[in-house]
Amino acid sequence: MNELDQTEYIAIMYGVQRMRRGQRSRILPRMEQHPSATAQLHQHASPAGGSVAVTVMEGDGIGPEVVGAALRVMREAGARLDVESCRAGAAVFREGDVTGVPDDTITSIERTGVALKGPLATPIGHGEKSANVTLRKIFETYANIRPSRELPGVLTPFSGRGVDLVVIRENVEDLYAGIEHMQTPQVAQSLKVITRYGSEKVARLAFAYARAEGRRSITVATKANIMKLSEGLFQQAFDDVATEFPDIEARHVLVDNCAHQLVMRPEQYDIILTTNMNGDILSDLTSGLVGGLGFAPSANIGTDTALFEAVHGSAPDIAGRDVANPTAIMLSCVLLLRHIGQADAARAMEDAVLVTLEDRRFLTGDIAREHAAVGTSRFTDAVVENIGRAPVMETQQRTTAPFLPPAPGWRPSTPPPEQRRVIGVDVFLESEADAPTVGGASEACLEGLPMRLKMVSNRGTQIYPGEPTAASTVDVWRARFMLTTDAGDLDDATILDLLARLGRRMPWVHVEKLQEFDGVPAFTKAQGED
Ligand code: NAD
Repeated sequence: MNELDQTEYIAIMYGVQRMRRGQRSRILPRMEQHPSATAQLHQHASPAGGSVAVTVMEGDGIGPEVVGAALRVMREAGARLDVESCRAGAAVFREGDVTGVPDDTITSIERTGVALKGPLATPIGHGEKSANVTLRKIFETYANIRPSRELPGVLTPFSGRGVDLVVIRENVEDLYAGIEHMQTPQVAQSLKVITRYGSEKVARLAFAYARAEGRRSITVATKANIMKLSEGLFQQAFDDVATEFPDIEARHVLVDNCAHQLVMRPEQYDIILTTNMNGDILSDLTSGLVGGLGFAPSANIGTDTALFEAVHGSAPDIAGRDVANPTAIMLSCVLLLRHIGQADAARAMEDAVLVTLEDRRFLTGDIAREHAAVGTSRFTDAVVENIGRAPVMETQQRTTAPFLPPAPGWRPSTPPPEQRRVIGVDVFLESEADAPTVGGASEACLEGLPMRLKMVSNRGTQIYPGEPTAASTVDVWRARFMLTTDAGDLDDATILDLLARLGRRMPWVHVEKLQEFDGVPAFTKAQGED
Protein backbone atom coordinates (compact mmCIF):
# COMPACT_ATOMS: atom_id res chain seq x y z
CA MET A 1 0.00 0.00 0.00
CA ASN A 2 2.09 2.87 -1.29
CA GLU A 3 -0.32 5.76 -1.61
CA LEU A 4 -2.47 5.15 1.45
CA ASP A 5 -1.70 3.85 4.85
CA GLN A 6 -3.92 1.12 6.16
CA THR A 7 -5.95 3.38 8.42
CA GLU A 8 -6.86 5.69 5.57
CA TYR A 9 -7.68 2.75 3.36
CA ILE A 10 -10.08 1.26 5.87
CA ALA A 11 -11.67 4.64 6.46
CA ILE A 12 -12.19 5.04 2.74
CA MET A 13 -13.62 1.57 2.39
CA TYR A 14 -16.03 2.26 5.18
CA GLY A 15 -17.01 5.46 3.43
CA VAL A 16 -17.64 3.59 0.19
CA GLN A 17 -19.98 1.24 2.00
CA ARG A 18 -21.92 4.06 3.61
CA MET A 19 -22.24 5.84 0.28
CA ARG A 20 -23.75 2.74 -1.23
CA ARG A 21 -26.41 2.90 1.43
CA GLY A 22 -27.28 6.44 0.39
CA GLN A 23 -25.25 8.31 2.99
CA ARG A 24 -22.80 11.01 2.08
CA SER A 25 -19.37 10.04 3.34
CA ARG A 26 -17.31 12.60 5.19
CA ILE A 27 -14.21 11.04 3.74
CA LEU A 28 -15.32 11.07 0.12
CA PRO A 29 -12.80 13.79 -0.77
CA ARG A 30 -9.98 11.53 0.40
CA MET A 31 -11.29 8.73 -1.78
CA GLU A 32 -11.48 10.98 -4.80
CA GLN A 33 -7.85 11.84 -4.22
CA HIS A 34 -7.12 8.13 -4.32
CA PRO A 35 -9.15 6.54 -7.08
CA SER A 36 -6.86 3.52 -6.84
CA ALA A 37 -8.53 2.72 -3.53
CA THR A 38 -11.75 1.73 -5.24
CA ALA A 39 -9.83 -0.49 -7.62
CA GLN A 40 -8.27 -2.21 -4.63
CA LEU A 41 -11.56 -2.42 -2.81
CA HIS A 42 -12.15 -6.06 -3.56
CA GLN A 43 -9.05 -7.83 -4.59
CA HIS A 44 -11.13 -10.77 -5.80
CA ALA A 45 -13.86 -8.80 -7.57
CA SER A 46 -13.84 -8.31 -11.31
CA PRO A 47 -12.99 -4.71 -12.26
CA ALA A 48 -16.23 -4.19 -14.14
CA GLY A 49 -18.33 -5.48 -11.24
CA GLY A 50 -19.15 -8.59 -13.25
CA SER A 51 -18.98 -12.19 -12.16
CA VAL A 52 -16.45 -13.33 -9.60
CA ALA A 53 -14.83 -16.75 -9.77
CA VAL A 54 -15.39 -18.76 -6.59
CA THR A 55 -14.17 -22.27 -5.85
CA VAL A 56 -16.94 -24.38 -4.35
CA MET A 57 -16.37 -27.66 -2.49
CA GLU A 58 -19.67 -29.29 -1.60
CA GLY A 59 -18.03 -31.45 1.03
CA ASP A 60 -19.28 -34.57 2.76
CA GLY A 61 -22.41 -35.69 4.60
CA ILE A 62 -24.93 -32.86 4.63
CA GLY A 63 -22.47 -30.72 2.63
CA PRO A 64 -24.06 -31.17 -0.82
CA GLU A 65 -27.54 -30.42 0.58
CA VAL A 66 -26.63 -27.24 2.46
CA VAL A 67 -24.10 -25.92 -0.06
CA GLY A 68 -26.57 -26.52 -2.90
CA ALA A 69 -29.24 -24.63 -0.96
CA ALA A 70 -26.89 -21.73 -0.26
CA LEU A 71 -25.74 -21.45 -3.88
CA ARG A 72 -29.34 -21.31 -5.00
CA VAL A 73 -30.15 -18.46 -2.58
CA MET A 74 -26.98 -16.58 -3.53
CA ARG A 75 -27.92 -16.63 -7.19
CA GLU A 76 -31.53 -15.64 -6.49
CA ALA A 77 -30.26 -12.78 -4.32
CA GLY A 78 -28.37 -11.38 -7.28
CA ALA A 79 -24.87 -12.70 -6.63
CA ARG A 80 -22.72 -12.72 -9.73
CA LEU A 81 -20.54 -15.81 -9.43
CA ASP A 82 -18.56 -18.08 -11.72
CA VAL A 83 -18.59 -21.27 -9.70
CA GLU A 84 -15.65 -23.65 -10.07
CA SER A 85 -16.87 -26.92 -8.56
CA CYS A 86 -14.04 -28.87 -6.95
CA ARG A 87 -13.61 -31.98 -4.86
CA ALA A 88 -12.19 -32.49 -1.39
CA GLY A 89 -12.84 -34.72 1.59
CA ALA A 90 -13.84 -38.33 2.23
CA ALA A 91 -14.10 -39.61 -1.36
CA VAL A 92 -10.70 -38.11 -2.20
CA PHE A 93 -9.12 -39.80 0.83
CA ARG A 94 -10.66 -43.12 -0.19
CA GLU A 95 -9.08 -42.79 -3.62
CA GLY A 96 -5.70 -42.81 -1.89
CA ASP A 97 -4.90 -39.08 -1.74
CA VAL A 98 -3.60 -38.72 1.85
CA THR A 99 -4.25 -34.97 1.88
CA GLY A 100 -7.95 -35.20 0.98
CA VAL A 101 -7.50 -32.21 -1.34
CA PRO A 102 -6.62 -32.90 -5.01
CA ASP A 103 -4.15 -30.69 -6.85
CA ASP A 104 -6.77 -29.25 -9.20
CA THR A 105 -8.78 -28.04 -6.19
CA ILE A 106 -5.69 -26.30 -4.83
CA THR A 107 -4.99 -24.76 -8.24
CA SER A 108 -8.56 -23.50 -8.45
CA ILE A 109 -8.38 -21.85 -5.02
CA GLU A 110 -5.03 -20.30 -5.90
CA ARG A 111 -6.64 -18.86 -9.01
CA THR A 112 -9.90 -17.61 -7.47
CA GLY A 113 -8.64 -16.66 -3.99
CA VAL A 114 -12.15 -17.29 -2.66
CA ALA A 115 -13.69 -20.59 -1.67
CA LEU A 116 -16.99 -21.80 -0.28
CA LYS A 117 -16.52 -25.07 1.51
CA GLY A 118 -18.95 -27.67 2.81
CA PRO A 119 -17.86 -29.77 5.78
CA LEU A 120 -15.08 -32.25 5.07
CA ALA A 121 -14.79 -35.57 6.86
CA THR A 122 -11.66 -37.66 7.37
CA PRO A 123 -12.77 -41.29 7.07
CA ILE A 124 -11.26 -43.56 9.70
CA GLY A 125 -8.18 -45.31 8.38
CA HIS A 126 -7.45 -42.69 5.69
CA GLY A 127 -5.11 -39.72 5.92
CA GLU A 128 -3.05 -38.48 8.83
CA LYS A 129 -4.36 -34.91 8.79
CA SER A 130 -7.84 -33.66 8.04
CA ALA A 131 -8.48 -32.01 4.68
CA ASN A 132 -9.58 -28.91 6.61
CA VAL A 133 -6.17 -28.67 8.27
CA THR A 134 -4.49 -29.24 4.89
CA LEU A 135 -6.40 -26.32 3.37
CA ARG A 136 -5.71 -24.12 6.39
CA LYS A 137 -1.98 -24.82 6.16
CA ILE A 138 -1.62 -24.55 2.37
CA PHE A 139 -3.41 -21.22 2.21
CA GLU A 140 -2.22 -20.04 5.62
CA THR A 141 -5.64 -18.81 6.62
CA TYR A 142 -4.26 -17.22 9.74
CA ALA A 143 -7.49 -15.72 11.04
CA ASN A 144 -10.76 -17.47 11.74
CA ILE A 145 -13.68 -15.07 12.07
CA ARG A 146 -16.85 -16.35 13.71
CA PRO A 147 -19.70 -13.90 14.25
CA SER A 148 -22.40 -14.85 16.75
CA ARG A 149 -25.44 -12.64 16.62
CA GLU A 150 -28.86 -13.10 18.10
CA LEU A 151 -31.18 -14.11 15.27
CA PRO A 152 -34.88 -13.30 15.12
CA GLY A 153 -37.09 -16.31 15.70
CA VAL A 154 -34.26 -18.45 17.03
CA LEU A 155 -35.13 -18.82 20.67
CA THR A 156 -32.33 -19.54 23.12
CA PRO A 157 -31.84 -18.92 26.85
CA PHE A 158 -30.03 -15.74 25.74
CA SER A 159 -32.76 -14.35 23.50
CA GLY A 160 -33.41 -10.67 24.09
CA ARG A 161 -29.93 -9.99 25.43
CA GLY A 162 -28.64 -8.50 22.19
CA VAL A 163 -25.73 -10.86 21.71
CA ASP A 164 -23.73 -9.54 18.75
CA LEU A 165 -20.09 -10.49 18.96
CA VAL A 166 -17.30 -11.85 16.83
CA VAL A 167 -14.58 -14.25 17.90
CA ILE A 168 -11.40 -13.77 15.89
CA ARG A 169 -9.08 -16.68 16.42
CA GLU A 170 -5.47 -17.03 15.36
CA ASN A 171 -5.73 -20.05 13.14
CA VAL A 172 -2.35 -21.62 12.38
CA GLU A 173 -0.10 -21.40 15.45
CA ASP A 174 -0.35 -22.39 19.11
CA LEU A 175 -0.78 -26.02 20.10
CA TYR A 176 -2.40 -26.61 16.71
CA ALA A 177 0.96 -26.31 15.00
CA GLY A 178 0.86 -30.04 15.75
CA ILE A 179 4.46 -30.36 16.96
CA GLU A 180 4.15 -33.28 19.34
CA HIS A 181 6.54 -35.91 20.64
CA MET A 182 6.41 -38.86 22.96
CA GLN A 183 9.54 -38.18 25.00
CA THR A 184 9.24 -41.52 26.74
CA PRO A 185 6.43 -44.08 26.63
CA GLN A 186 4.98 -42.19 29.64
CA VAL A 187 5.40 -38.58 28.62
CA ALA A 188 3.88 -36.70 25.68
CA GLN A 189 4.86 -33.15 24.84
CA SER A 190 3.09 -30.65 22.56
CA LEU A 191 4.83 -27.40 21.68
CA LYS A 192 2.78 -24.24 21.96
CA VAL A 193 4.16 -22.02 19.21
CA ILE A 194 3.22 -18.35 19.42
CA THR A 195 5.10 -15.89 17.21
CA ARG A 196 5.30 -12.12 17.14
CA TYR A 197 4.57 -12.35 13.41
CA GLY A 198 1.43 -14.46 13.77
CA SER A 199 0.14 -12.55 16.80
CA GLU A 200 0.63 -9.10 15.34
CA LYS A 201 -0.79 -10.13 11.97
CA VAL A 202 -4.06 -11.40 13.43
CA ALA A 203 -4.24 -8.39 15.79
CA ARG A 204 -3.92 -6.04 12.81
CA LEU A 205 -6.66 -7.94 11.03
CA ALA A 206 -8.89 -7.71 14.12
CA PHE A 207 -8.51 -3.94 14.37
CA ALA A 208 -9.13 -3.51 10.64
CA TYR A 209 -12.21 -5.70 10.95
CA ALA A 210 -13.45 -3.71 13.97
CA ARG A 211 -13.23 -0.46 12.04
CA ALA A 212 -14.88 -1.93 8.95
CA GLU A 213 -17.82 -3.18 11.05
CA GLY A 214 -18.04 -0.02 13.15
CA ARG A 215 -17.31 -1.95 16.34
CA ARG A 216 -16.09 -0.17 19.43
CA SER A 217 -13.95 -2.62 21.39
CA ILE A 218 -11.69 -5.62 21.09
CA THR A 219 -11.04 -7.85 24.09
CA VAL A 220 -7.95 -10.01 23.91
CA ALA A 221 -8.58 -13.27 25.80
CA THR A 222 -5.41 -15.00 26.97
CA LYS A 223 -3.92 -17.13 29.69
CA ALA A 224 -0.99 -14.71 30.00
CA ASN A 225 -0.99 -15.03 33.80
CA ILE A 226 0.22 -18.63 33.50
CA MET A 227 1.90 -18.80 30.07
CA LYS A 228 3.68 -15.49 30.48
CA LEU A 229 5.87 -15.82 27.40
CA SER A 230 3.61 -17.47 24.82
CA GLU A 231 0.17 -16.07 25.69
CA GLY A 232 2.01 -13.00 26.98
CA LEU A 233 3.56 -12.39 23.55
CA PHE A 234 0.12 -12.57 21.95
CA GLN A 235 -1.20 -10.01 24.43
CA GLN A 236 1.83 -7.75 23.98
CA ALA A 237 1.45 -7.77 20.19
CA PHE A 238 -2.22 -6.84 20.64
CA ASP A 239 -1.30 -3.98 23.00
CA ASP A 240 1.28 -2.65 20.57
CA VAL A 241 -1.12 -2.70 17.60
CA ALA A 242 -3.87 -1.15 19.74
CA THR A 243 -1.85 2.07 20.09
CA GLU A 244 -2.39 2.64 16.34
CA PHE A 245 -6.18 2.36 16.71
CA PRO A 246 -7.12 4.80 19.49
CA ASP A 247 -10.76 4.82 18.36
CA ILE A 248 -11.15 1.12 19.30
CA GLU A 249 -11.14 0.29 23.00
CA ALA A 250 -8.57 -2.42 23.79
CA ARG A 251 -9.40 -4.69 26.72
CA HIS A 252 -7.86 -7.75 28.37
CA VAL A 253 -9.57 -10.76 29.93
CA LEU A 254 -8.26 -14.08 31.12
CA VAL A 255 -9.76 -16.76 28.94
CA ASP A 256 -11.31 -18.73 31.80
CA ASN A 257 -13.05 -15.61 33.05
CA CYS A 258 -14.06 -14.88 29.45
CA ALA A 259 -15.88 -18.22 29.26
CA HIS A 260 -17.65 -17.36 32.50
CA GLN A 261 -18.50 -13.84 31.34
CA LEU A 262 -19.81 -15.15 28.02
CA VAL A 263 -22.43 -17.15 29.85
CA MET A 264 -23.20 -14.49 32.47
CA ARG A 265 -23.12 -11.31 30.36
CA PRO A 266 -22.38 -12.08 26.68
CA GLU A 267 -23.71 -8.72 25.53
CA GLN A 268 -20.64 -6.96 26.98
CA TYR A 269 -18.43 -8.28 24.17
CA ASP A 270 -17.93 -6.78 20.74
CA ILE A 271 -14.88 -8.56 19.31
CA ILE A 272 -12.90 -11.22 21.17
CA LEU A 273 -9.39 -11.84 19.83
CA THR A 274 -7.65 -14.96 21.03
CA THR A 275 -5.12 -17.69 20.39
CA ASN A 276 -5.93 -20.82 18.43
CA MET A 277 -6.99 -23.26 21.11
CA ASN A 278 -8.74 -20.70 23.29
CA GLY A 279 -10.59 -19.54 20.19
CA ASP A 280 -11.58 -23.03 19.17
CA ILE A 281 -13.35 -23.51 22.49
CA LEU A 282 -14.74 -20.00 22.96
CA SER A 283 -16.18 -19.79 19.47
CA ASP A 284 -18.11 -23.02 19.91
CA LEU A 285 -19.44 -21.57 23.14
CA THR A 286 -20.51 -18.35 21.38
CA SER A 287 -22.22 -20.39 18.63
CA GLY A 288 -24.25 -21.99 21.40
CA LEU A 289 -25.39 -18.58 22.66
CA VAL A 290 -27.29 -17.85 19.46
CA GLY A 291 -28.80 -21.19 18.53
CA GLY A 292 -26.01 -23.68 17.94
CA LEU A 293 -24.11 -25.17 15.07
CA GLY A 294 -26.91 -24.74 12.55
CA PHE A 295 -26.48 -20.95 12.81
CA ALA A 296 -22.73 -20.46 13.07
CA PRO A 297 -20.96 -19.05 9.98
CA SER A 298 -17.23 -18.54 9.62
CA ALA A 299 -14.59 -16.98 7.43
CA ASN A 300 -10.99 -18.20 7.27
CA ILE A 301 -8.84 -15.33 6.09
CA GLY A 302 -5.38 -15.73 4.60
CA THR A 303 -3.17 -13.20 2.90
CA ASP A 304 -4.31 -14.13 -0.61
CA THR A 305 -7.18 -16.48 0.11
CA ALA A 306 -10.46 -16.50 1.98
CA LEU A 307 -12.38 -19.70 2.73
CA PHE A 308 -15.97 -19.50 3.91
CA GLU A 309 -17.70 -22.35 5.67
CA ALA A 310 -20.24 -23.27 8.33
CA VAL A 311 -18.76 -24.17 11.70
CA HIS A 312 -20.60 -27.49 11.81
CA GLY A 313 -19.29 -30.79 10.49
CA SER A 314 -20.69 -33.24 7.96
CA ALA A 315 -23.41 -34.48 10.36
CA PRO A 316 -23.41 -38.07 9.04
CA ASP A 317 -26.35 -38.89 11.33
CA ILE A 318 -28.70 -36.73 9.24
CA ALA A 319 -26.97 -36.72 5.85
CA GLY A 320 -29.09 -37.25 2.75
CA ARG A 321 -32.40 -36.88 4.61
CA ASP A 322 -33.24 -33.29 3.65
CA VAL A 323 -33.39 -32.26 7.32
CA ALA A 324 -30.17 -30.25 7.79
CA ASN A 325 -30.38 -26.58 8.65
CA PRO A 326 -28.61 -24.59 5.89
CA THR A 327 -28.64 -21.27 7.81
CA ALA A 328 -24.99 -21.46 8.90
CA ILE A 329 -23.68 -21.95 5.37
CA MET A 330 -26.08 -19.29 4.05
CA LEU A 331 -24.73 -16.79 6.60
CA SER A 332 -21.20 -17.84 5.57
CA CYS A 333 -22.18 -16.95 2.01
CA VAL A 334 -23.26 -13.51 3.23
CA LEU A 335 -19.72 -13.04 4.56
CA LEU A 336 -18.34 -14.28 1.23
CA LEU A 337 -20.46 -11.88 -0.78
CA ARG A 338 -19.30 -8.97 1.36
CA HIS A 339 -15.73 -10.12 0.90
CA ILE A 340 -16.02 -10.03 -2.89
CA GLY A 341 -17.73 -6.66 -2.80
CA GLN A 342 -21.27 -7.79 -3.66
CA ALA A 343 -22.79 -5.99 -0.70
CA ASP A 344 -26.26 -5.69 -2.25
CA ALA A 345 -26.56 -9.42 -2.81
CA ALA A 346 -25.16 -10.00 0.69
CA ARG A 347 -27.80 -7.75 2.19
CA ALA A 348 -30.61 -9.32 0.16
CA MET A 349 -29.52 -12.82 1.17
CA GLU A 350 -29.09 -11.95 4.84
CA ASP A 351 -32.45 -10.20 4.98
CA ALA A 352 -34.18 -13.17 3.34
CA VAL A 353 -32.67 -15.60 5.86
CA LEU A 354 -33.64 -13.33 8.78
CA VAL A 355 -37.22 -12.89 7.48
CA THR A 356 -37.58 -16.67 7.15
CA LEU A 357 -36.33 -17.28 10.70
CA GLU A 358 -38.46 -14.48 12.10
CA ASP A 359 -41.56 -15.83 10.35
CA ARG A 360 -41.08 -19.24 12.08
CA ARG A 361 -43.46 -21.07 9.75
CA PHE A 362 -40.74 -22.88 7.84
CA LEU A 363 -38.02 -24.01 10.22
CA THR A 364 -35.80 -27.07 10.20
CA GLY A 365 -36.12 -29.69 12.92
CA ASP A 366 -33.25 -28.39 15.05
CA ILE A 367 -35.25 -25.26 15.98
CA ALA A 368 -38.85 -25.84 14.96
CA ARG A 369 -40.11 -26.42 18.54
CA GLU A 370 -43.88 -25.91 18.53
CA HIS A 371 -44.08 -25.82 14.74
CA ALA A 372 -43.89 -28.77 12.38
CA ALA A 373 -40.42 -28.97 10.99
CA VAL A 374 -39.75 -28.56 7.30
CA GLY A 375 -36.86 -29.96 5.33
CA THR A 376 -33.76 -28.23 3.96
CA SER A 377 -35.43 -27.74 0.57
CA ARG A 378 -38.65 -26.20 1.91
CA PHE A 379 -36.69 -23.90 4.19
CA THR A 380 -34.61 -22.85 1.18
CA ASP A 381 -37.76 -22.26 -0.89
CA ALA A 382 -38.99 -19.96 1.88
CA VAL A 383 -35.71 -18.04 1.91
CA VAL A 384 -35.89 -17.58 -1.86
CA GLU A 385 -39.52 -16.42 -1.58
CA ASN A 386 -38.44 -13.86 1.03
CA ILE A 387 -35.76 -12.22 -1.11
CA GLY A 388 -36.62 -8.54 -1.31
CA ARG A 389 -38.27 -8.46 2.12
CA ALA A 390 -36.71 -6.86 5.19
CA PRO A 391 -37.04 -8.34 8.70
CA VAL A 392 -39.58 -6.67 10.97
CA MET A 393 -37.80 -7.37 14.22
CA GLU A 394 -35.03 -5.09 15.25
CA THR A 395 -31.84 -6.95 14.50
CA GLN A 396 -28.28 -5.83 14.65
CA GLN A 397 -27.35 -5.56 11.00
CA ARG A 398 -23.76 -4.71 10.44
CA THR A 399 -22.81 -2.51 7.53
CA THR A 400 -19.70 -4.53 7.02
CA ALA A 401 -17.33 -2.73 4.74
CA PRO A 402 -14.55 -4.81 3.24
CA PHE A 403 -11.54 -4.69 5.47
CA LEU A 404 -7.90 -4.74 4.63
CA PRO A 405 -5.84 -7.44 6.30
CA PRO A 406 -2.05 -7.04 6.38
CA ALA A 407 -0.69 -6.96 2.84
CA PRO A 408 1.30 -9.85 1.33
CA GLY A 409 4.89 -9.64 2.50
CA TRP A 410 3.98 -7.73 5.65
CA ARG A 411 6.38 -8.29 8.55
CA PRO A 412 6.22 -6.90 12.08
CA SER A 413 8.32 -3.81 12.64
CA THR A 414 9.36 -4.57 16.23
CA PRO A 415 13.10 -3.94 16.58
CA PRO A 416 15.12 -6.99 17.63
CA PRO A 417 16.90 -6.83 21.02
CA GLU A 418 20.24 -5.07 20.93
CA GLN A 419 21.92 -7.79 22.96
CA ARG A 420 21.30 -11.51 23.09
CA ARG A 421 23.24 -13.93 25.28
CA VAL A 422 23.01 -17.67 25.77
CA ILE A 423 23.40 -17.98 29.53
CA GLY A 424 22.41 -21.57 30.12
CA VAL A 425 20.77 -24.69 28.86
CA ASP A 426 17.84 -26.88 29.89
CA VAL A 427 18.43 -30.55 29.23
CA PHE A 428 15.50 -32.94 29.50
CA LEU A 429 16.70 -36.31 30.76
CA GLU A 430 15.03 -39.69 30.91
CA SER A 431 15.46 -41.54 34.20
CA GLU A 432 13.50 -43.86 36.48
CA ALA A 433 15.73 -42.76 39.39
CA ASP A 434 14.82 -40.28 42.14
CA ALA A 435 15.62 -36.55 42.28
CA PRO A 436 18.85 -36.73 44.32
CA THR A 437 20.19 -39.37 41.94
CA VAL A 438 19.32 -37.36 38.81
CA GLY A 439 20.65 -34.13 40.41
CA GLY A 440 23.85 -35.79 41.61
CA ALA A 441 24.50 -37.42 38.23
CA SER A 442 23.94 -34.09 36.47
CA GLU A 443 26.40 -32.30 38.78
CA ALA A 444 28.96 -35.04 38.31
CA CYS A 445 29.08 -34.20 34.58
CA LEU A 446 30.19 -30.61 35.12
CA GLU A 447 33.84 -31.00 36.07
CA GLY A 448 35.93 -28.48 34.14
CA LEU A 449 32.90 -26.88 32.42
CA PRO A 450 31.94 -23.20 33.03
CA MET A 451 28.50 -24.19 34.29
CA ARG A 452 26.62 -25.03 37.46
CA LEU A 453 23.46 -27.05 37.95
CA LYS A 454 20.82 -24.55 39.05
CA MET A 455 18.01 -26.98 39.61
CA VAL A 456 16.22 -30.11 38.46
CA SER A 457 12.48 -30.02 37.91
CA ASN A 458 9.86 -32.62 37.15
CA ARG A 459 6.61 -31.64 35.43
CA GLY A 460 7.54 -27.97 35.92
CA THR A 461 8.23 -28.06 39.68
CA GLN A 462 11.72 -27.79 41.17
CA ILE A 463 12.56 -31.04 42.96
CA TYR A 464 16.33 -30.68 43.41
CA PRO A 465 18.09 -29.20 45.32
CA GLY A 466 15.79 -28.88 48.27
CA GLU A 467 13.77 -30.83 50.76
CA PRO A 468 11.92 -33.87 49.44
CA THR A 469 8.45 -32.85 48.29
CA ALA A 470 5.19 -34.70 47.99
CA ALA A 471 5.15 -34.03 44.24
CA SER A 472 4.99 -37.27 42.31
CA THR A 473 7.50 -37.57 39.52
CA VAL A 474 7.61 -39.12 36.06
CA ASP A 475 10.55 -40.32 33.99
CA VAL A 476 11.40 -37.02 32.24
CA TRP A 477 13.48 -34.53 34.26
CA ARG A 478 14.65 -31.08 33.35
CA ALA A 479 18.18 -30.20 34.48
CA ARG A 480 18.90 -26.46 34.27
CA PHE A 481 22.55 -25.55 33.78
CA MET A 482 23.69 -21.92 34.01
CA LEU A 483 26.89 -20.29 32.79
CA THR A 484 29.14 -19.37 35.72
CA THR A 485 30.68 -16.30 34.07
CA ASP A 486 28.97 -12.91 33.71
CA ALA A 487 30.22 -12.23 30.19
CA GLY A 488 30.12 -14.06 26.88
CA ASP A 489 27.88 -16.86 25.66
CA LEU A 490 27.53 -20.46 26.59
CA ASP A 491 28.91 -21.83 23.35
CA ASP A 492 27.70 -24.83 21.36
CA ALA A 493 30.90 -26.84 21.89
CA THR A 494 30.42 -26.66 25.67
CA ILE A 495 26.77 -27.66 25.38
CA LEU A 496 27.67 -30.61 23.15
CA ASP A 497 30.39 -31.67 25.61
CA LEU A 498 27.83 -31.56 28.42
CA LEU A 499 25.30 -33.57 26.38
CA ALA A 500 27.89 -36.22 25.62
CA ARG A 501 28.77 -36.53 29.33
CA LEU A 502 25.09 -36.63 30.40
CA GLY A 503 24.24 -39.12 27.68
CA ARG A 504 26.71 -41.62 29.13
CA ARG A 505 24.66 -41.62 32.37
CA MET A 506 21.05 -40.99 31.23
CA PRO A 507 19.42 -40.56 27.81
CA TRP A 508 18.61 -36.92 27.06
CA VAL A 509 15.40 -36.35 25.06
CA HIS A 510 15.26 -32.60 24.47
CA VAL A 511 17.55 -29.55 24.77
CA GLU A 512 16.65 -25.87 24.95
CA LYS A 513 19.10 -22.95 25.15
CA LEU A 514 18.43 -20.33 27.83
CA GLN A 515 18.82 -16.80 26.51
CA GLU A 516 18.75 -13.24 27.78
CA PHE A 517 17.42 -10.44 25.55
CA ASP A 518 18.80 -7.06 26.61
CA GLY A 519 19.48 -8.49 30.04
CA VAL A 520 15.97 -9.92 30.50
CA PRO A 521 15.61 -13.72 30.81
CA ALA A 522 13.84 -15.18 27.77
CA PHE A 523 12.62 -18.21 29.69
CA THR A 524 10.44 -18.84 32.69
CA LYS A 525 11.34 -20.27 36.07
CA ALA A 526 10.19 -23.61 37.35
CA GLN A 527 7.61 -23.66 40.11
CA GLY A 528 9.62 -23.13 43.31
CA GLU A 529 12.77 -21.93 41.51
CA ASP A 530 14.36 -18.82 43.06
P1 NAD B 1 -21.15 -32.30 13.36
O1 NAD B 1 -21.12 -30.82 13.42
O2 NAD B 1 -21.11 -32.90 12.02
O3 NAD B 1 -22.47 -32.84 14.10
C1 NAD B 1 -22.74 -32.61 15.47
C2 NAD B 1 -24.26 -32.68 15.72
O4 NAD B 1 -24.88 -31.49 15.20
C3 NAD B 1 -24.93 -33.84 15.01
O5 NAD B 1 -25.96 -34.33 15.82
C4 NAD B 1 -25.50 -33.23 13.75
O6 NAD B 1 -26.65 -33.89 13.26
C5 NAD B 1 -25.85 -31.81 14.22
N1 NAD B 1 -25.72 -30.85 13.13
C6 NAD B 1 -24.57 -30.39 12.59
N2 NAD B 1 -24.84 -29.52 11.61
C7 NAD B 1 -26.18 -29.43 11.52
C8 NAD B 1 -27.05 -28.70 10.68
N3 NAD B 1 -26.60 -27.86 9.73
N4 NAD B 1 -28.39 -28.87 10.84
C9 NAD B 1 -28.86 -29.67 11.82
N5 NAD B 1 -28.08 -30.39 12.65
C10 NAD B 1 -26.74 -30.27 12.50
O7 NAD B 1 -19.93 -32.83 14.25
P2 NAD B 1 -19.29 -34.30 14.34
O8 NAD B 1 -20.38 -35.31 14.35
O9 NAD B 1 -18.38 -34.23 15.48
O10 NAD B 1 -18.42 -34.47 13.03
C11 NAD B 1 -18.85 -35.22 11.89
C12 NAD B 1 -17.76 -35.15 10.83
O11 NAD B 1 -17.57 -33.81 10.39
C13 NAD B 1 -16.39 -35.63 11.30
O12 NAD B 1 -15.78 -36.37 10.26
C14 NAD B 1 -15.61 -34.36 11.52
O13 NAD B 1 -14.23 -34.53 11.36
C15 NAD B 1 -16.18 -33.47 10.44
N6 NAD B 1 -16.09 -32.03 10.75
C16 NAD B 1 -15.77 -31.20 9.72
C17 NAD B 1 -15.72 -29.83 9.96
C18 NAD B 1 -15.37 -28.93 8.82
O14 NAD B 1 -15.30 -29.36 7.69
N7 NAD B 1 -15.12 -27.65 9.07
C19 NAD B 1 -16.03 -29.31 11.21
C20 NAD B 1 -16.39 -30.19 12.24
C21 NAD B 1 -16.42 -31.56 12.00
